[in-house]
Amino acid sequence: MKIDALSLFPAMFDSVMNASMMWKAQDRGLLTFCAHDIRDYAADKHRQVDDTPYGGGGGMILKPDVLVRAIEAVRPSTATPVILLSPQGRLLTHPVAAELAQLPQLVLVCGHYEGVDERVRQLAVTDEISIGDYVLTGGELAALVLIDAVVRLIPGVLGAEGAADRDSHADGLLEGAHYTRPHTYRGLAVPAILTSGHHAEVARWRRRQALLRTWLRRPELLKSAPLTEDDREWLEALAGRQLPTVASSPDP
Ligand code: SAM
Repeated sequence: MKIDALSLFPAMFDSVMNASMMWKAQDRGLLTFCAHDIRDYAADKHRQVDDTPYGGGGGMILKPDVLVRAIEAVRPSTATPVILLSPQGRLLTHPVAAELAQLPQLVLVCGHYEGVDERVRQLAVTDEISIGDYVLTGGELAALVLIDAVVRLIPGVLGAEGAADRDSHADGLLEGAHYTRPHTYRGLAVPAILTSGHHAEVARWRRRQALLRTWLRRPELLKSAPLTEDDREWLEALAGRQLPTVASSPDP
């Protein structure tokens, strides 16, 4: 995959894109990433990229001529999606990340200040994505969140050990609890099932942990999660019991 990000502060991408899995994805040839400075596409000697809003009001607006020029310069064809990071966009969820992970190239546009001139949306943006119902000062952190969520789904980026299909949201549920050594820590022992060697029982326990967590923390997800008959029966039995607290999260 190739990702081009357009930003007024391209250096903001450096630390994240040069560390951990994002760096590995590039090192393995699975991702090509480039952060472009929007200012390079300004036409005047002051490299002006923003201006005051028509009609008054505070804040600065990113100019349409500069931003559209920048988008057209980095977009290889009109088939390449141009995503504006925006608190007004569709919400970034696992299905949206999975959809974007199928694409060969993305252009990400990071707004700043009061946002971008509306004509950028009309002329050059094909999609608008929000990372949540709050407002950031700029689109760079949102773009990095999107990039990480998408790139980790590209086959080969995580490797078999960290397969993304077992993580929360991949199958509509939250993932259950994890444990590692030591076996007992400050009086808390690892659930006996995990040291039993019964792989089928461990898998069943993990599934029920996931169902329990989801039921306790995000019960609305259960409405759309693909559940088996066994899952449904177990959840119905659970609903009849006294509700455990999130913190205690007992063995089901
Ligand atoms: N005035 C805009 C509004 O009310 O919709 C908000 C502008 S915000 C201060 C500046 C930039 O940060 C936006 O253009 C966008 O690129 C980015 N941004 C802010 N919140 C975001 C969010 N929740 N998701 C994605 N991008 C966001």
